[in-house]
Amino acid sequence: MSVYNDYFGPFGGRYVPEILQPPLKELELAFQEALGDPEFIGEFEEFCRDFIGRPTPLLPAKNASREIGGAQIYIKLEGLANTGAHKINNAAGQALLAKRMGKKRIIAETGAGQHGVATAAACARLNLPCVIYMGEEDIRRQHPNVYWMEMYGAEVRSVTSGSRTLKDAVNEAFRDWTANSADTHYLLGSALGPSPYPDMVREFQSVIGREIKDQADFQIDAMVACVGGGSNAIGFLAPFLDQKSIKMYGVEAGGRGKGPGNNAVRMADTGRPGIIQGYKSLFLHDSDGQVLDTHSISAGLDYPGIGPQLAALGKEGRIEFTEASDREALEALKFFARTEGVIFAMESAHAGAAAIRIAKTMSPDQNLIINMSGRGDKDIFISAAALDGENWRDFLEKESRRKYVD
Ligand SMILES: *Cc1c(COP(=O)(O)O)cnc(C)c1O
Repeated sequence: MSVYNDYFGPFGGRYVPEILQPPLKELELAFQEALGDPEFIGEFEEFCRDFIGRPTPLLPAKNASREIGGAQIYIKLEGLANTGAHKINNAAGQALLAKRMGKKRIIAETGAGQHGVATAAACARLNLPCVIYMGEEDIRRQHPNVYWMEMYGAEVRSVTSGSRTLKDAVNEAFRDWTANSADTHYLLGSALGPSPYPDMVREFQSVIGREIKDQADFQIDAMVACVGGGSNAIGFLAPFLDQKSIKMYGVEAGGRGKGPGNNAVRMADTGRPGIIQGYKSLFLHDSDGQVLDTHSISAGLDYPGIGPQLAALGKEGRIEFTEASDREALEALKFFARTEGVIFAMESAHAGAAAIRIAKTMSPDQNLIINMSGRGDKDIFISAAALDGENWRDFLEKESRRKYVD
């Protein structure tokens, strides 16, 4: 069976310069061949078990469900995966594939640094040298992740072109790949980009949904995931797409509210079709094709584009898109910490916030699953500043004055 789609309705494709066609074709063929090889699947499963710590639990959130008084809520704890989020599933799959293809070097882009951390960890484990492209501005804002990437042995290269953020890092990674594709794999971080990336990332992330198939001994009525580029959502949902009785929700970043620059909502008639960074999808951009600024309290959802398959599933009506604001995400973070003892990543807290709303409209004999794409330790500089401002600032000031002696 081929899982290679290329296009999803009107979206997807491979819009790259001529020189990148051969390496993408090589990757497509290697990916298809690897998926059909039990030895490769075995390697991936072993890596998932021994290094990532899979399967991740499916937690019955009994206290939260009781307090909300609607559907029974279950939480898929991707945050318990090694490195703290679902991103490692894709990094592992692609790094193993690169090794099988005989590539000697990995490159990746990163925005907030989460994909860089996952890639660096997988490469450390597999003994592959890796270079992470990161905008100069993001390096400044995301110091802890840079620290971890370097500890894993990755080289973090500062990108100083354009706005010095994620899109510039992607451009730089493609430039590197154009020059070095013979021995280098470009490990792209979400279910987007030119084909075969959307198919490949979905297949590696689908380990999430496949595990739920084994774990859920109940009828699933609704599934809720946050959507940045779309990799955690598509991996969570793809194995269930043909079960029409399941309602599926994608949650985008409502940010500070309506209006350009205040959010990262692409699916509520705000996104427009475009071809950017190698694929056709819905983007927040102006009539000249200039990408607009976005805002979200969660770095992982603060992105102007959406993966082509999710865009198509949204337009077809198979997945319903909704939003959660910065404020609602913070409230959901507190709610699940207090009721269940789990700290959602700020991204995942958007799914949590929408799930609280949706569960209320359902009955107690129905079941809803939230994908907690990551855990919230990484967000302490944001959540503590927002929820515990004075104390947190006081702590940071004292820390900054502390003398470091050995
Ligand atoms: C990066 C990230 C996301 C958003 O990326 P997707 O590709 O949409 O999944 C969501 N949650 C966490 C924890 C992340 O690190």
